Amino acid sequence: MDMWDVKSAYGLAALRGEARVNEPMKKYTSWRAGGAAERIYMPADLTDFARFLSSLPPDEPVYVIGLGSNLLVRDGGVRGTVVVLHARLNELRLVQQDKNGGLIYAQAGLACAKAARFAASHELAGAEFLAGIPGTIGGALAMNAGCYGTETWEIVERVQTISRAGQLRERPSDAYETGYRHVALKLGMQIEESRFDGLPDEEWFVGGWFRLLSGTHDASRQKIKELLARRITSQPLNLPNAGSVFRNPPGDSAARLIESCRLKGFRIGGAMVSPKHANFIVNTGAATAADIEAVIMAVKNAVKQKAGIELEQEVRIIGVAR
Ligand SMILES: Cc1cc2nc3c(=O)[nH]c(=O)nc-3n(C[C@H](O)[C@H](O)[C@H](O)COP(=O)(O)OP(=O)(O)OC[C@H]3O[C@@H](n4cnc5c(N)ncnc54)[C@H](O)[C@@H]3O)c2cc1C
Repeated sequence: MDMWDVKSAYGLAALRGEARVNEPMKKYTSWRAGGAAERIYMPADLTDFARFLSSLPPDEPVYVIGLGSNLLVRDGGVRGTVVVLHARLNELRLVQQDKNGGLIYAQAGLACAKAARFAASHELAGAEFLAGIPGTIGGALAMNAGCYGTETWEIVERVQTISRAGQLRERPSDAYETGYRHVALKLGMQIEESRFDGLPDEEWFVGGWFRLLSGTHDASRQKIKELLARRITSQPLNLPNAGSVFRNPPGDSAARLIESCRLKGFRIGGAMVSPKHANFIVNTGAATAADIEAVIMAVKNAVKQKAGIELEQEVRIIGVAR
C-alpha cells in the first residue's frame, strides 16, 4: 500500500512529515549499497513523530535510523517502515551553564559534529570526540559511539525516548547498562540487538542531555582539528564505508587480526577490505550488500581459522537477501 494510502486509511492525514514508498536505502546509508525500504517516514518534528507512531497499524514493522553510517541493508530490502531522523529531530540548545560547566540538549536527528562544534563555541569541553563520528546523536546513543578514549555515555546525564505507541519518556543515564559499543536498558529490556527484517523495536532515543565541563573555545577547536586530521591519515574516507566493521576483541585490535591474515585489499565484487585500514570495508563503486556481507563472512572465517578468534560485527545488518 502506498504511504499516502496508509495515511488516509489510518487517519494519518494530519501528519506533517515526508513519506516515500519503495525508497532505495542506499541513499540513506554511508555504504551506498543495499535494497529498498517498503516505506520510509521522515517526521517533521518530535510531536509529528509521536503522532505517526501512535497512528501506525500495530503490526507495521518500524526501524529507526539516523545517518546510516553503521548500517548494511540487504539487497532484498526492508519490510515495513524505516524512520529517518537525520536532519529532522534537530533541536540543539544550551540548558544550563555556570563556572564549572554546562548541560546541552540535543535531539536524536542532529549530526554529532554539530553538537561538538556547538559545545566548543559555548566554551564547554568533553564533546570534541563527537566531531569524529559521522552519525547522529540518536545513533551515538544507540551504539555508545566513541573515539580516542571517550564514549558517548560518559557525557550523558539523561535521555528522552519514545515508545512504539508514541509515548515520550525521560530516563536517567543509570537506567542503562553501557559498555564498549553496547547499550541496554536495565530491567532486562534490550534497546537494540542485531535484528533482521525490521522487527518492531520497543523504544528509541529522541534526544539527550549531555553534561560537559568548563573549557575554552580555542582548546576544543584545536582538539577537534587534531582528531579530524588523524582520521584523514588513518581512514579510507574517499570511498563509501561504515567505519569499523568489527568490534575489537578484548585486549586486541580487529584491524591487526585482519591484517595478520593478509586480507588488506581482499575483494568480492565491488566490496574490498580497505588497503588503508583493515577494519574498514569499502564500496569501490558498485558493491551490492551481498558483496559486503560476503567480505564480512570471509574475514570472520579467516580470522577464526588463523587466530582462533571469533570477530563480532559492530555494524548492524537489516533486511532480507535478494
Ligand atoms: C568513516 C566512519 C568513521 C566512523 N568512526 C567511528 C568511530 O570512531 N567511533 C564509533 O563509535 N563509530 C564510528 N563510526 C560508525 C558510526 O558513525 C557510529 O556507529 C554512529 O554512532 C552511527 O550513527 P548513525 O546515526 O549513522 O546510526 P545508523 O547507522 O543510522 O544506525 C545504527 C544503529 O543505531 C540505531 N539507531 C539509530 N538512531 C537511533 C535512535 N534514535 N534510537 C534508537 N536506535 C537508533 C539503528 O537502528 C541502528 O541499529 C564510523 C562510521 C564511518 C562511516
